Amino acid sequence: MSLSEIEQRIAAAEVVHGREAGSTLLIAVSKVQPNDRVKGVLDQGHKCFGENRVQEAASKWPEFRQQFQGLDLHLIGPLQSNKARQAMELFDAIHSLDRPKLARTLARIAQDLGKCPDIFVQINTGKEPQKAGLMPEDTDSFVAECRKLDLPVQGLMSIPPNDEPASPHFENLANMAERNGLSGLSMGMSGDFEEAIRYGATHVRVGSAIFGDRIFEVKR
Ligand SMILES: *Cc1c(COP(=O)(O)O)cnc(C)c1O
Repeated sequence: MSLSEIEQRIAAAEVVHGREAGSTLLIAVSKVQPNDRVKGVLDQGHKCFGENRVQEAASKWPEFRQQFQGLDLHLIGPLQSNKARQAMELFDAIHSLDRPKLARTLARIAQDLGKCPDIFVQINTGKEPQKAGLMPEDTDSFVAECRKLDLPVQGLMSIPPNDEPASPHFENLANMAERNGLSGLSMGMSGDFEEAIRYGATHVRVGSAIFGDRIFEVKR
């Protein structure tokens, strides 16, 4: 599949589900992809990319940023406190805020830097023990806590369980966002982004459907 095919499918899903045209941002998830594939998508004019590791992003994006203006870089993977400053300098958005200590750390660094990336709070909608994210029942109090810290929380993010239909998780996340007055919904990946758009996704995170399989992943 190609970037333009995915863009067309997003546009079609917006029409079918009564969404405003252009209301879904496509985050091209470039993690583990070789640079020539990433460059191919950059050359087509795409600006918005997602990475799941701070270290990996730091090794490739500063150079791309010099070659391509106006890039929009999103951290979609877990963030350790000791990488928080580097992440806040590198990324335009962080989708993986999921604990009070990290919220306080981000707030402190934001004061220091005088700026802060857009923040999404990650919710473990499937309550999977191995997965990052806040328990759904803790969402409201956590969002309130983030607001007290002046963190710019844009929305909620979730990665539904692999072995279940994603729709109930999308719907649940949308309800939690609405209840908290949040307009951003980061949900939907290669296999289910159209379904996510149906439930209001504003940010879809699509990797393999654009770049091809992450063939290098096994070697890492
Ligand atoms: C890798 C990843 C994606 C993209 O997955 P694909 O199935 O390749 O589209 C989306 N979100 C997160 C959090 C990821 O880690």
